[in-house]
Amino acid sequence: MPVSELVEQARAGQHRAVGRLISLVEDESPALREVMAALAPHTGRAHVVGVTGAPGVGKSTSTSALVTELRTRDKRVGVLAIDPSSPFSGGALLGDRVRMSEHATDPGVFIRSMAARGHLGGLAWSAPQALRVLDAAGFDVVVVETVGVGQSEVEVAGAADTTVVLLAPGMGDGIQAAKAGILEIGDVYVVNKADREGARTVRRDLRSMLSLAERPDDAWKPPVLLTTASSGEGVAEVVEKLEEHRGWAEESGALRRRRLRRVKDEVETLALTELRKRWGGVSDRNRLDDLAAEVVAGQLDPYAAADRLLET
Ligand code: GDP
Repeated sequence: MPVSELVEQARAGQHRAVGRLISLVEDESPALREVMAALAPHTGRAHVVGVTGAPGVGKSTSTSALVTELRTRDKRVGVLAIDPSSPFSGGALLGDRVRMSEHATDPGVFIRSMAARGHLGGLAWSAPQALRVLDAAGFDVVVVETVGVGQSEVEVAGAADTTVVLLAPGMGDGIQAAKAGILEIGDVYVVNKADREGARTVRRDLRSMLSLAERPDDAWKPPVLLTTASSGEGVAEVVEKLEEHRGWAEESGALRRRRLRRVKDEVETLALTELRKRWGGVSDRNRLDDLAAEVVAGQLDPYAAADRLLET
């Protein structure tokens, strides 16, 4: 099927076409150039919400509850579940099937999982492009869910307009929070499993840690909410805070700044990926190998080698 037709179908809300476009991203298809060119005029509308947190805090459950709540508000929702540690992709993850069951028949919901198996730029390369597909396909809200494993959390925060950091009692959260640097990335903090003992203590500790951060007077003050995702309790407040943050970010200019930074990263990643392909890839002669050999042999210094690499 020609790319233009696929894009048209995706824009018309056909999930199969959306899925196929995301597969092109995963497969690092050469058709992506054309796809992205066709999508460009239709992007920038969706509210991209990142959801991150350690395994077991309730991300899948919370995402599903968020979708349910957003649907009652007539929002079309796309979900991209990213597992940076998983070699599997294409919606085959177990979590997907669990999530799918509840929203499977809803034409206003699209759920897809993606693994960062790509050899090019990994997650940093593929996630923004998949987000563009969902944005251009007209979803009002796109939720990106990632397993919190340090760096990936920070990457997700960079990719989202609004980042939700999820915690739960009984997981040594205070120390975990400080360690993983999540105190800097959250726009909305949610202590899930409020039905369990200790949730209020986690919230209190988190609030006091957040209050130590120096913020300008007009900065967004990240709220700390309590939810029981399994019953849906507290989820409406989360959605309200997400919308509030989006409104604030739009008015204050923070949204534009964040998106500029995001796109700069994206363009840079694409350019670097392209460069790497040129000098190290599938060509008959590997320029980088040759230059490295010269540096090892003392015939060339590394700066000169880098210059030559850029000249290729
Ligand atoms: P993820 O690994 O962060 O995606 O977490 P899951 O959504 O898979 O949830 C992990 C476990 O916690 C599952 O057994 C859920 O049923 C359970 N769970 C999720 N939310 C809640 C909650 O609000 N209260 C309680 N008690 N359990 C929950």
